[in-house]
Amino acid sequence: MRTPLIAGNFKMFKTVPETVAYLIELRALVRDVHGVDIVVAPPFTAIHAAAAVVRDSNIAIGAQNLHWEREGAFTGEVSAPMLFVAGARVVIVGHSERRTLFGETNESVNKKMHAAIVAGLVPIVCIGETLEQRTRHETLAVLDRQIKEGLDGLTGAQLAGIVLAYEPVWAIGTGQNATPAQAGEAHFHIRQRLKQWFGLEASDRCRVLYGGSVKPDNIGTLMAAPDVDGALVGGASLDPKAFLAIIRGAAI
Ligand code: PEP
Repeated sequence: MRTPLIAGNFKMFKTVPETVAYLIELRALVRDVHGVDIVVAPPFTAIHAAAAVVRDSNIAIGAQNLHWEREGAFTGEVSAPMLFVAGARVVIVGHSERRTLFGETNESVNKKMHAAIVAGLVPIVCIGETLEQRTRHETLAVLDRQIKEGLDGLTGAQLAGIVLAYEPVWAIGTGQNATPAQAGEAHFHIRQRLKQWFGLEASDRCRVLYGGSVKPDNIGTLMAAPDVDGALVGGASLDPKAFLAIIRGAAI
């Protein structure tokens, strides 16, 4: 049985004081919530302060990106060990906004994922098709390529410890979420491929989240789709009460 995971991606929202105030409130709201793992990924600037607020709680702090080198002349970049020491325990890799706006490729996703694992961070590796690809019936082929190239070199034992997020690009920030049937089809396919390429035991332990306009009123139906182990939540994670409702909706 996989424990559901709800991860909030703040994107480029909230300053340090705003993140701290949010987490003080969320920490109190989720104190008695069990049966679900909770992650909040604020901007880099707030990670250290955020980690201090959630110490000894049931919330873990994530980052939204990383560089694959440990250190070096890479102006503006942040490495996995830096994130770990700042207090992050999770990192989002290959979010579609990074793929479409900042040139992220399956190859860079792969390097970042390996760097995260070496540093002790749990990567949430994002995959998903664009609207054009779905319209051309390429969804499953796109997912295959993202999994094969993005997870290249991963052992079964490592796969068991990472998280995948299926995020159809057309559903992110648009208010248009995949139907449970669309999510279920993609998640079923992803699980089959993981089984085929990494073995039954490892694939059974790897959590696969859904992401794309998840809200308090659709988390229940999405969680009911087979093989959906939680959600990566953007917009709705910015309000602690809405995020709490999503967390409760996923808890077992
Ligand atoms: C995301 O940022 O990963 C996301 C799914 O955003 P939203 O929930 O706003 O669609």
